[in-house]
Amino acid sequence: MRGTDLNMLERPYYGCGKCLLGVRRLSRMKLATSSPERQREDVLVAAEAVGGHIIGWADDWEVSGAPPTR
Ligand SMILES: [Zn+2]
Repeated sequence: MRGTDLNMLERPYYGCGKCLLGVRRLSRMKLATSSPERQREDVLVAAEAVGGHIIGWADDWEVSGAPPTR
């Protein structure tokens, strides 16, 4: 196991200056990208490396031609 619990890196914004928004690029074509869970871990590890934390996620589903949902 890792020494750091990755779940600890998902915290709400509190103005520490290292609040980061995680971005996952998802696809319905399974082989095109790594799994969302794998990407989550990659992002959390990257956040940890810069001393930051993740306040939320922006998931890009790569839906071509679809209008933005509001
Ligand atoms: Zn913060």
